[in-house]
Amino acid sequence: MKINKLELGGFRNYKTASLEFDGGCNVIYGENAQGKTNLLEAIVYLSCGKSPRAHADRELIGFEADCARLFGVIESRDREFKTEVVLQRGKRRKMTINGVAAKSSAALSDVLHTVFFSPEDLYLIRDGAAARRRFMDISLCQLRPRYAEALAEYNRLYEHKTRILRDSENQPDLLTMLPDFNERLCVVGAAIISYRARFVQALAQHAALAHSECSGGKEALNLTYQTVKTVDDPFASQSEIAQKLREHQQSHYHAEIASRLCLSGPHKDDIEVLVNGRSARQFCSQGQVRTAALSLKLAEREIHKNAVGEYPVMLLDDVLSELDEKRQEYVLNRIAGGQIFITCCENDRLGALQAGKVFHIRDGEVI
Ligand code: ATP
Ligand code: MG
Repeated sequence: MKINKLELGGFRNYKTASLEFDGGCNVIYGENAQGKTNLLEAIVYLSCGKSPRAHADRELIGFEADCARLFGVIESRDREFKTEVVLQRGKRRKMTINGVAAKSSAALSDVLHTVFFSPEDLYLIRDGAAARRRFMDISLCQLRPRYAEALAEYNRLYEHKTRILRDSENQPDLLTMLPDFNERLCVVGAAIISYRARFVQALAQHAALAHSECSGGKEALNLTYQTVKTVDDPFASQSEIAQKLREHQQSHYHAEIASRLCLSGPHKDDIEVLVNGRSARQFCSQGQVRTAALSLKLAEREIHKNAVGEYPVMLLDDVLSELDEKRQEYVLNRIAGGQIFITCCENDRLGALQAGKVFHIRDGEVI
């Protein structure tokens, strides 16, 4: 997968811009606040209809513009796709692929996959379990439509159950509905666990390799899927997992009613991240956390490659700072195959990099 051309109009600090990219490595450099991250953000948006950092689409429209236009020429599955998104203030966005209206952002993901890594992604290691669940969910939803369905169903049941528990204080008869919801949560929950266990297994293999190479063999990264306690084998059949979930639920039945909270189920899952046998969250240095987070993203890229047959476009925002020379060299030289975008400030050393094309960005323009 490649994006060969990008046109922007009224997007963030880009009034108009047209860029033609290399199929390999593209370096975007410039001083702070010139529009490097904005450029990557535009590419991510074309791949999933969502910005990795904005809360609302209107943030993406230039301060002085009425609408933002993003247009990309994408090469994927040996075909060419022209994707266009127009964001307008106070109106619905318009998305087209080869001139045909795209119904949802999933249509964009069908054409282009991206893996985006930025300094903010350190939260993957540093934050609580929700951050790592989100990572699993986003990746799995793109890869497995069945997972996306199961997750949506689970979330719907979960919200409903939460309401039953919360409102049962004033309406105790609501609790008669609880067993039915519990049973469905076990069945759907078992499917989710089954997918996540396999995903983390693949992730652990690829990430361990990346981390070890990046640290020059000095550090071992270990990822383990953590789910409901009674599920001793998350690779068992889904009916066996469901049975284990029922056991856990039964033992928490009264506690859930007393606390009015859903205490049992995979909505509390996590990935345990260890570096050299110790919790990365608690003991890792900045550079180690960055290496571990980057390894997760590189692993995600490999999983996508194996599933789809093509590397997704890799977007690396400001990865070099905080990595020592050896780790920088690894990042710059080892991420071969597929198209890559890497942003950096002017003073970063790029000697080690085999850049296909270099773009100098100043104040929302390519110079
Ligand atoms: P750094 O090296 O600090 O990460 P950067 O080159 O990645 O800098 P960007 O995050 O791309 O910088 O942002 C560049 C500029 O875009 C910022 O000065 C910001 O004020 C501006 N900007 C953000 N949103 C908009 C918008 N909607 N309209 C116009 N300008 C915007
Ligand atoms: Mg930036």
